[in-house]
Amino acid sequence: MPLFCKQCNDRRLPIFQTTEKITLWLCEKCENFVDSQDIIIRELTKSEKDERNAKLENFKNSIVLTGEKKTRRKGVN
Ligand SMILES: [Zn+2]
Repeated sequence: MPLFCKQCNDRRLPIFQTTEKITLWLCEKCENFVDSQDIIIRELTKSEKDERNAKLENFKNSIVLTGEKKTRRKGVN
């Protein structure tokens, strides 16, 4: 399995492709997908990039919210 990117040595993430019904490995730095044979299949598309960024934003926001709650609880105690 291509756990690491050949171009930048960064970790690849397995992303299941619902249309092709296969798992491709994404390098977030190079923004491309390889298959299990480490062959580049395609680049990360604009919409996929936006979707990933949106998810990341949600994740960040939820951390901020949780942090706020904890601080508030401490204040009450
Ligand atoms: Zn890479």
